Amino acid sequence: MSARILYGKDFAAQIKESARVEIESLKNKFGVTPGLAVVIVGENPASQVYVRNKHKTCVELGINSTVVAMPETSTKEDLLAKIDELNADKNVNGILVQLPLPAEIKAHSEEILNRIDPLKDVDGFHPVNVGKLVTGSPALVPCTPAGCIEMLDLAGIKIDGKRAVIIGRSNIVGKPMLHLLMARHATVTVCHSHTKNLADVTREAEILVAAMGRPKFVTADMIREGAVVIDVGINRIAPKKLVGDVDFDAAVEIAGAITPVPGGVGLLTVAMLMKNVVTATKLQLKIS
Ligand code: NDP
Repeated sequence: MSARILYGKDFAAQIKESARVEIESLKNKFGVTPGLAVVIVGENPASQVYVRNKHKTCVELGINSTVVAMPETSTKEDLLAKIDELNADKNVNGILVQLPLPAEIKAHSEEILNRIDPLKDVDGFHPVNVGKLVTGSPALVPCTPAGCIEMLDLAGIKIDGKRAVIIGRSNIVGKPMLHLLMARHATVTVCHSHTKNLADVTREAEILVAAMGRPKFVTADMIREGAVVIDVGINRIAPKKLVGDVDFDAAVEIAGAITPVPGGVGLLTVAMLMKNVVTATKLQLKIS
């Protein structure tokens, strides 16, 4: 058996199209053009690529995009002042600080992110948004796990009642994924580096989410036959070679459906960011 391949570009295109329609309607009905400000500090080449991508997608969909490039030498106070300015700017509906921050201010990442107005927090990292996700009234949800759920829906894959296993418990992927899957009535187990007999747990999964950052760690024998395998991992194993957390070539023979890397979940993240900018704008306008 060979699995159905869930290509990110197909789903990302649908997510972006639905965002584009909503952006158009915000302009026509309310005279509002959603705006996103992305703050980037320093010269990290990978971050620069991500920020360029976000800017390009904003332009494509009709979102006003501002890239705020700050020098490597910026202090915590510089960043907090910039965020205060963006919080107060009515033309900015979404604010995102590109991570990682330079080593000198990295320790202050949490304080800096927490300064973003929760209504403009399009990354969904602010404790207010995390709390809403946990209590079941989600507003702005982290883009990568939200994109995975959207993909399952668009692919017609049922979540309700399924046995789901997530490998990884980070604030960005694993934990929000737990709450999103649980809210959709899956029975969820979260595994991490202290989990004993990991393969025994993962083999129970009808939906398996790998988000650990370990190249090709999930082998075919860890996968239940017919499972939906979502590979969130992005691991650079050579200058031009990216692989996921799943051994794709072997897994594709046993899974029922699987996302490739590259070309899978990664593409959903930027598309969901655009959706979050729309959601943030609607929250600020108090419309549903
Ligand atoms: P983190 O490093 O923050 O978390 C990794 C998690 O995996 C931790 O909870 C860790 O456990 C767990 N883990 C690590 N090794 C093992 C192991 N051997 N067995 C079981 N669990 C293990 O990573 P992120 O969540 O930020 O990212 C995960 C992956 O997803 C990365 O490859 C990253 O590049 C990718 N990513 C992709 C995105 C996209 O757009 N597609 C967006 C965000 C991330 P413990 O908590 O015990 O340390």
